[in-house]
Amino acid sequence: MQGYRSEIMDGSEALVVRPHHLLCTVCLRGGCDSPPPGRERIQRILDQVWRNRELPIVLDCPLYPVHYQDIKSEEYFQKVKRELHNRKKDLDVLRRLGLVPGSRRPAWYIYGLILDRIPTVDGICIYETATSPEWEGCPHARSGYYEKAREKGVGFFVPSRSKEEMRKAKEDSVRSIYRDERLFIRPHHLMCITCFYGRGGSAPLEEDNLYEVLRRIQEDPDTPITLIEGCCMICPPCPSYNPDTDLCDNVCGLVRDYKKDLDVLQKLGLAPGATMKAKDLFRLLFERIQTSMEICGYGDGVVTSHEWAICGNVKAGYYEKGREKGIFPKER
Ligand code: SF4
Ligand code: SF4
Repeated sequence: MQGYRSEIMDGSEALVVRPHHLLCTVCLRGGCDSPPPGRERIQRILDQVWRNRELPIVLDCPLYPVHYQDIKSEEYFQKVKRELHNRKKDLDVLRRLGLVPGSRRPAWYIYGLILDRIPTVDGICIYETATSPEWEGCPHARSGYYEKAREKGVGFFVPSRSKEEMRKAKEDSVRSIYRDERLFIRPHHLMCITCFYGRGGSAPLEEDNLYEVLRRIQEDPDTPITLIEGCCMICPPCPSYNPDTDLCDNVCGLVRDYKKDLDVLQKLGLAPGATMKAKDLFRLLFERIQTSMEICGYGDGVVTSHEWAICGNVKAGYYEKGREKGIFPKER
């Protein structure tokens, strides 16, 4: 049985794991010293993830799809029996995560999802009653190892940014915002600035630079803004911003925000690199995009998966309020 391997996929290393082995990594971190797949094997997963929070994890599990007419001997049934509970565990984990065999996600994402969606291994690794030897379950399942490690949060599995580092990032990026000749902003953040303004935001936030960009452009509406895709001058102090990769390690940073950026560019008839005075850019934005539903709710408001969740501020209507008030009141 193949339970753990590293592979080079799309030019980068990916870790291929059985979904239920990830639960065992949580137990191991909680103090279990003999997880059934083997301590070393499980520790290797933890080590790789700790070294690289962006490590792509590919969830792999055998499904044995054999047609009954192709079963040549009773050995087949012996083989599937050995792996019976483990295969059910894999599928239980996948179901909770809303993923499928072959799903590939970064380590930070997978661990966040596991801890969020699987509060206990009871019911996955062990059942109320062992109905037969195949379904006996793991001796560690009721030890509390899993639950204890889970309580420590995702930073116990993948390294997170320190408060000090984020504070320093805030200081440096705010200095740039007030000093630099032009600002670099991702297109959908123009809308987030409007939401911030629309909900009455009037003080700096620790975790982003919305206030500072708003203040700079209100003080100088001629400030040039260059549109870029991906993280921008608003992101550096955010706990989800990864300064090593410049990626957003948050579910919204996987695909959703990239689409929102392109949707805004399409509506504005612009491309990355376009540079305009702040007042002209916001005038164009407010002309072409009336509601946040058009962009942040994808137009139809349908959530097709966790990755395509819709920002809570769509319902609150903050963009509409900010647009109505106008970022530059004197200009309207
Ligand atoms: S309880 Fe489950 S997750 Fe924990 S060691 Fe046993 S099999 Fe692994
Ligand atoms: S609805 Fe959310 S993502 Fe969309 S512009 Fe407002 S704050 Fe930003």
